[in-house]
Amino acid sequence: MSITNKSIFDVYSELKEDEAQDLVKRLYKMGHHTPFEHASFTFGIENISRSCSHQLVRHRIASFTQKSQRYTRFGAKALASGSDKRVEIEDLYVFPPSFQKHSSILTKYRDYLELGRRLYEDLLSKGVPAEDARYILPNSTHTSLVMTMNFRELMHASSLRLCQRAQWEIRSVFEEIKKRVFEVSPFLSEFLCPKCEIIGYCNEEKSCGRKPKKES
Ligand SMILES: Cc1cc2nc3c(=O)[nH]c(=O)nc-3n(C[C@H](O)[C@H](O)[C@H](O)COP(=O)(O)OP(=O)(O)OC[C@H]3O[C@@H](n4cnc5c(N)ncnc54)[C@H](O)[C@@H]3O)c2cc1C
Repeated sequence: MSITNKSIFDVYSELKEDEAQDLVKRLYKMGHHTPFEHASFTFGIENISRSCSHQLVRHRIASFTQKSQRYTRFGAKALASGSDKRVEIEDLYVFPPSFQKHSSILTKYRDYLELGRRLYEDLLSKGVPAEDARYILPNSTHTSLVMTMNFRELMHASSLRLCQRAQWEIRSVFEEIKKRVFEVSPFLSEFLCPKCEIIGYCNEEKSCGRKPKKES
């Protein structure tokens, strides 16, 4: 279909799926990426670590709304009735896979987390506000957030965070994001890939071997 002299509405309603995909591919190849900004995705991301959320919010072309540590009591699950119930330690913190291999480390980690949780509750019981008591919470503390990103930024963030050099937790978030985008658009999900797939080589100092390093 020629789009010359067509109204925006006509282009939108008449452009066939395969023509639209062809156009998107051509724009992508040419580096004309502004049209990708018109599609945006909103994700509800639950129970990631504060360490992971800190990496996520470094992506500046996005909107974030994160669970407050000032207005919610850490370690308490709000029930429908409005009362609070104590929850299991595994439901409050991320347990990195590297810890799981060592039972002695896991035991020490659990003890450390329990100690921290008791201190947190002690602080609250003495009238310390939650906004101050949270200072003793570790990086592994669970958090939840809503993130909205336009597709251009999603491609950029994915190119960095799907790289094997990215930290495992944020990489797993972006692997999940790719799956969720696939559910909506298998076509668009193909654009979410590590940067080596885009540039054709690895520009990291240490390569995972997926693509060859570029000869300098
Ligand atoms: C493997 C890995 C290791 C990392 N290690 C560290 C670390 O040790 N320490 C650390 O501090 N950070 C680290 N980071 C975070 C990294 O430095 C970036 O802050 C993060 O990846 C966000 O990427 P970005 O700045 O390209 O893009 P975004 O913030 O997602 O922005 C997208 C793009 O918009 C443009 N843009 C946005 N804002 C501006 C601006 N103000 N001026 C000009 N252009 C702009 C740029 O082209 C940018 O690439 C790491 C990231 C990765 C992937």
